[in-house]
Amino acid sequence: MASDRGVSEETTVDVADAVSGLGHLIDGRIVRNDRSFPIDSPSSGEVVAQCPEATASLLDEAMAAAERAQPQWYAIGEAARQKVIGQMSDALVAHLDEIVAISALEKGAIGAALEAYAAPVFMTHLATTPIPVDILEDTPERTVTVVRKPVGVVAAISPWNAPILIMCEKIASALLVGNTVVAKPSPFTPLATLALGRIWKDIVPPGVLNIVAGGNELGAQMVAHPVTRMISFTGSVAAGQKIAAAAASSLKNLVLELGGNDAAIVLPDVDVETVAEAIFNAAFLMSGQVCAAIKRLYVHESIYQEMVEALVRRADAAIPAPEAEGGTFAPLTTRPQYDRIRMLLDDALTQGAHAATRAALPTSMGYFIAPTILTDVKPGMKVLDEEQFGPVLPVMSFHDVNDAIGAANATEYGLCGSIWTADVEAGAELAARLDCGTAWVNNHAEVAPHVPFGGTKLSGIGRNCGTPGIDAYAELQTRYVYKSAARVKGVKG
Ligand code: NAD
Repeated sequence: MASDRGVSEETTVDVADAVSGLGHLIDGRIVRNDRSFPIDSPSSGEVVAQCPEATASLLDEAMAAAERAQPQWYAIGEAARQKVIGQMSDALVAHLDEIVAISALEKGAIGAALEAYAAPVFMTHLATTPIPVDILEDTPERTVTVVRKPVGVVAAISPWNAPILIMCEKIASALLVGNTVVAKPSPFTPLATLALGRIWKDIVPPGVLNIVAGGNELGAQMVAHPVTRMISFTGSVAAGQKIAAAAASSLKNLVLELGGNDAAIVLPDVDVETVAEAIFNAAFLMSGQVCAAIKRLYVHESIYQEMVEALVRRADAAIPAPEAEGGTFAPLTTRPQYDRIRMLLDDALTQGAHAATRAALPTSMGYFIAPTILTDVKPGMKVLDEEQFGPVLPVMSFHDVNDAIGAANATEYGLCGSIWTADVEAGAELAARLDCGTAWVNNHAEVAPHVPFGGTKLSGIGRNCGTPGIDAYAELQTRYVYKSAARVKGVKG
């Protein structure tokens, strides 16, 4: 999805109408308050909407509603909860055009908003997959099982880069197990999540799902709130560290999905054009604003030049501009992110890196940065050492694959990594040496609802998706059941 166009551009949604009247979802009601903050369009840099901002007292109301609703939500049972999740998914499908249009407004391009299409796939999976029960022993004497019980009220906090998919996955996972939720989207992209609340208001019982909009301070209040029993957070390492520290005193359960600095290693036996296409897509998906995008590329010296040229051709074919002006490549979603990528590029170029792609940026307004292939990048440059989360790909050459594995692992992050080779067995052995939560041979940047996803080192704690993703939202209860009545009744004689 390097090209960020090609989707229902003839949408009939009136986006101004769709964002008007949005409010927080609290205890089954849409609540609007006087405080608000501006939302700007990354395509133009101009303010395009105002978003209501929840106060601490509205958060208290949301937490109280979630706490009240939780016992009954658990009591209705797994099948009834799955039915509701299925209905939520169906309602999302019915309103996808509206959600994508709102998300495109706040994310800057329709292509950048397409992650919304994956959300019902994840929700449907959770609506149809039974919560596992582990049977450890089943003998005439006893059964020993492990069952999943709810944690209580879950605070779900999402970032701006894939706000719909990430939030839907969190909400559906938490609800499946019998938890209730207070959710907060990123202050950069809150409108589509508030629109989901409006869509789901009459499907979810009051209090079971609450959505409040606000900034980092509201997120911190959710984390510290005495009603919160679990925090499901996706975002930056810096915020994740603060959240872990704030959760420590009351030992709240945590799942933290944080940043990445993924490496891909290309061996000499590949077809360069084929692999360049796949790597370009996995690096520049949503303008590189994907946690699991390729951020560093190590290519064997024998095909290095050919690979750089193949990537540069693809990058230079992209048109970073608003879709209305014929653009094919989405902007950065936030002004701080735009400033940071400019800073990282300046830093690297000043230190001797070279941009192999055209340097010129479009003249239009907005947060556009052309997809950039960097060569001559060395450790010590921020663009290599830090998560850059933008449309920049440093490409390094290697002679010995052991050095490439060492370089790939020489980072404080551990989200994902990949090996590209025609020798699949050798590739699998090399992939096993990557220190990260997900390793691929001949692919990258892939997520699926039944496949656990998460990171090692600073990339996070815990996993989303798959069985570990259900366990993350559960307290495991081990149950011993002794079957002989004689153990309690004694022997009559
Ligand atoms: P961010 O950490 O700035 O913000 C994320 C969310 O946390 C927002 O809703 C924000 O308001 C809230 N927040 C910030 N400080 C908080 C605090 N102290 N307490 C509670 N809430 C707080 O991140 P971002 O800039 O929105 O997102 C980009 C980051 O997200 C990147 O680092 C990216 O790698 C990461 N990310 C990770 C994954 C993953 O699955 N590992 C997926 C997507 C994005």
